[in-house]
Amino acid sequence: MRTDITKINEKSTYKELTEGMMIFAGGTAKLFNTGEWRTNTPVMDWEKCKQCLLCCPVCPDACIPFKDGKRLDFDYDHCKGCGICASVCRFGAITMKEGIEP
Ligand code: SF4
Ligand code: SF4
Repeated sequence: MRTDITKINEKSTYKELTEGMMIFAGGTAKLFNTGEWRTNTPVMDWEKCKQCLLCCPVCPDACIPFKDGKRLDFDYDHCKGCGICASVCRFGAITMKEGIEP
């Protein structure tokens, strides 16, 4: 039996789950706010941001969206707070703050 992840909720029984909770569907990341796992949070200082876009491709969770050549604010629903973006920013525009709130 294959689990339909879109039909799993708090009333689901164990009989509806796959062994080991394996998920066979693709593109399910949007269904879960995995950012709730975060213990540290990146915060932008837009005054310092030069829009070099270096931070966008390094995010392992694709949480730094960009449009028309400019980065937008973090996708906090999915950011895990790893701090890689803050490490690569050469302009000090991203600082990591303790806790889940920006
Ligand atoms: S790396 Fe820093 S300066 Fe460049 S777009 Fe990201 S936040 Fe802005
Ligand atoms: S802290 Fe990590 S997961 Fe969050 S936006 Fe930066 S690189 Fe992505």
